[in-house]
Amino acid sequence: MSRVAYVNGQYVPHAEAAVHVEDRGYQFADGVYEVIAVTRGALVDEEPHLVRLERSLSELRIAAPMGRPALRHVMREVIRRNRVADGIIYLQMTRGVAPRDHAFPAGAETSVVMTARRTRPPNPAVIRDGVKVITIPDIRWERCDIKSVALLPNCLGKQQAREAGAYEAWQVDARDGTVTEGTSTNAWIVTRDGEVVTRRADHAILNGITRIALVDIIAGQQGLKLVERPFTVEEAKNAREAFLTSTTSFVTPIVRIDGATVGDGKPGPVTKGLREAYLAHMAEEAGTA
Ligand code: PMP
Repeated sequence: MSRVAYVNGQYVPHAEAAVHVEDRGYQFADGVYEVIAVTRGALVDEEPHLVRLERSLSELRIAAPMGRPALRHVMREVIRRNRVADGIIYLQMTRGVAPRDHAFPAGAETSVVMTARRTRPPNPAVIRDGVKVITIPDIRWERCDIKSVALLPNCLGKQQAREAGAYEAWQVDARDGTVTEGTSTNAWIVTRDGEVVTRRADHAILNGITRIALVDIIAGQQGLKLVERPFTVEEAKNAREAFLTSTTSFVTPIVRIDGATVGDGKPGPVTKGLREAYLAHMAEEAGTA
């Protein structure tokens, strides 16, 4: 099937889609992005993704390239033209094309790129058996709340995880030993007291849209208590359960941290329950619940 990309107002064959060599996204990572899940052709949590996109743009003082109605229209068109039923849509916006100079250019137009693709259903073994994570120092900047395309530390971390046979790397704040987040996922534990713990959405992490949905789900479930606070690697290793969340991993159980077994080494009941609840939320978003 031939794929189509949206580039600055045009739908072009994916293989030919390109931006200028002096695009500031290319030269300075001066841009932001979003990844939104598509289920049965519907966008999952579209509204909070657009809110986060607008926030990322405004924090970096990049002009929004189009209004929300136009953006919604183009997203749907990209999904339709790529015949994506279950997959993702990727949006990237950069400060535009200008002669290379660190300071903001006058009058550059925000560049917009969108692509969409189908994704495979999650590997059943990952959900049945859980995954391993390693821990690495968090070497990123102090505005990880902005969904910037500057992802080099995240790429290095993910590669390190892969080479260690792990699914993800949890980044650790060297100052206090607390886990900030994964390289492309948020980090959670369930304590021995049964509390669900995740870091509060400060500048040290990206406030995941899956995280936000799960915070809501937990608030609506009787008998589950959420505590938003940092936790250390030691605490996580001694937790009853651990899991990670993201648009593409949903809720994924973790059974090993740096080789230490979490709980009884199997995905725990709280994680399983939250995964089910999150999948139900996705189905609801698609109008198929
Ligand atoms: N943290 C980081 C650093 C990420 O890149 C992502 C995925 N974009 C997440 C957390 C999870 O966010 P979301 O649930 O919105 O996919």
